[in-house]
Amino acid sequence: MTAKAGPTPSGATAAVPAVLLAHHLKQLEPPTVLREYEKVAREAARDGVDHVRYLLRLVELELLDRERRVTERRIREARFPTVKSFDTFDFAAIPGLNKMLALELGRCAFIARRENVIALGNSGTGKTHVALALGLAACQRGFSTFFLTAHALASQLMEARDEKRLLKLQAQLQNVKLLIVDELGYVPLSQVGAELLFEVFSQRYERGSIIVTSNLPFEEWPAVFRSERLTGALLDRLTHHVHILEMNGESYRLKQSAGRRRAAKAEQPKATVRPDHAAAPSEHDRDPNAASQLS
Ligand code: ADP
Ligand code: MG
Repeated sequence: MTAKAGPTPSGATAAVPAVLLAHHLKQLEPPTVLREYEKVAREAARDGVDHVRYLLRLVELELLDRERRVTERRIREARFPTVKSFDTFDFAAIPGLNKMLALELGRCAFIARRENVIALGNSGTGKTHVALALGLAACQRGFSTFFLTAHALASQLMEARDEKRLLKLQAQLQNVKLLIVDELGYVPLSQVGAELLFEVFSQRYERGSIIVTSNLPFEEWPAVFRSERLTGALLDRLTHHVHILEMNGESYRLKQSAGRRRAAKAEQPKATVRPDHAAAPSEHDRDPNAASQLS
């Protein structure tokens, strides 16, 4: 380069290094360095920091930002219906759940060991919430994750088979470090769907982790997979290295809506005294979601 503009560059020539630096940084694409270098340079000058430390500060900022961006991308690619974590999970609401085990699983060593997790329990007890929390933890710890319901997975597999791209989808499902299959058992699978789902589980056996949530105890799984033989083979693989989260208990949703009803009742004006039976909620006053929501 011939950028020797004399001993004291001034005016237009003084701006040349800054312009060139911005141009080069744009080409190299370290967005944080590009955004922050002037501010960090001012701070370095103020603090009397040498060139090496200045560069170190900048590179550290870039790395932190890059990690955050990669995690955000992993979370987007996981296709979580909503992002939930253990921070918002009230363990006291489900005393039957082994809190220590759940939090230990949140450290994700089971993914490195290619083990599975099965969360079993009735509706509304937080199975999906826990699966989402484990999925989020996995993304934050660098594991690629994919979340979908058993029904969606079976449908996608059948669609891919019809469109002659089954192998590609199977490879994608196999490559991900953590596959989360939610709501196994809510909707019975077709025979083809069950066989394709079995294949996915079978291909991941000892190669990658699966989290399954289900409202059905294992004895009732044959009804979902339509075959004792297939279910036996599937459970054999799935439960070989498995952590079971027992999540039977009172539905969190029903408990919350009951709480809301009680609060609303307590707020009613005292002047209008009504006979007890008139104040009691009828069947129709119940939480409209409670009856229709399956999960
Ligand atoms: P399930 O999958 O077992 O049917 P969900 O995980 O969908 O239940 O829980 C239903 C709703 O209640 C969700 O909004 C979830 O976040 C919330 N929820 C359930 N259990 C808890 C809990 N222990 N603490 C906080 N929120 C909970
Ligand atoms: Mg659920």
